[in-house]
Amino acid sequence: EQVCTFMCPYARFQSVMFDRDTMIVSYDEARGEGTAGRAKVKAGLKTREERQAAGVGDCIDCGYCVQVCPTGIDIRDGLQFQCIHCALCIDACDTIMDKQGWPRGLIAYTSEREQEGGKTRFLRGKTLGYGAAVLVVIVALAGSILGRAPVDANVNQVRQPLYVQMSDGRIQNGYEIRLNNTADRELDFDIALAGLEGADLDLGQVEHIRLEPGDRVTVAVRVRYDVPADAPSPQPFRFVITDRDGHIEPLEVTSQFSHR
Ligand code: SF4
Ligand code: SF4
Repeated sequence: EQVCTFMCPYARFQSVMFDRDTMIVSYDEARGEGTAGRAKVKAGLKTREERQAAGVGDCIDCGYCVQVCPTGIDIRDGLQFQCIHCALCIDACDTIMDKQGWPRGLIAYTSEREQEGGKTRFLRGKTLGYGAAVLVVIVALAGSILGRAPVDANVNQVRQPLYVQMSDGRIQNGYEIRLNNTADRELDFDIALAGLEGADLDLGQVEHIRLEPGDRVTVAVRVRYDVPADAPSPQPFRFVITDRDGHIEPLEVTSQFSHR
């Protein structure tokens, strides 16, 4: 109830999009209240004819529609932003009307225009516009799902320490490679280097990286490089990520090598 009332954006949207032809759950006030208001059956007026003669409406004030409402509102007070249009009050009231032997629909899913005796216009500028907007969103969503890269990869250079000088004179940098398999098949990754001539890639204990669909992993790797005297620092290079079975196009992720 609290979420429906205070957090759900549905009603806020709807109040902007609302017009006289919008289908909503609503109480037929003219029928329910008559000219003399609502009255319980035990008030003495038992038949519908007696009630109508006295100007009393069809609402017998049983309160059933309020009891079943998950957001605790009384639909007879008119459209309220808390209403989530679950239609439980329609079923509740129809049950009461059936018991009384009176026509259903005192609370109904209808439009303001229909309640005033008109006919709901379904095809109008607003609905066509909203329909077109929804269609554009669906097409964009489908396009982004279909065009989604099968692998999501990014690389972070370890900065503590930024580099280490090895006993053989080479410089070592550390990296964290995050791989996310967004394809719908298992992928068996290989990682190689490009743009850093003669450098070694150390994957540690990991021989190769096999990921089920939807799985992700973070791998700590080291790159050792015999840095030429005139090499800049940082020096850009690329990690090349491939699938051993050739299911994906090679993916290149740019990073940098630091030696001072
Ligand atoms: S449609 Fe649901 S939320 Fe709205 S008034 Fe009826 S019971 Fe309550
Ligand atoms: S359920 Fe129907 S008859 Fe009963 S109080 Fe609600 S509107 Fe009136």
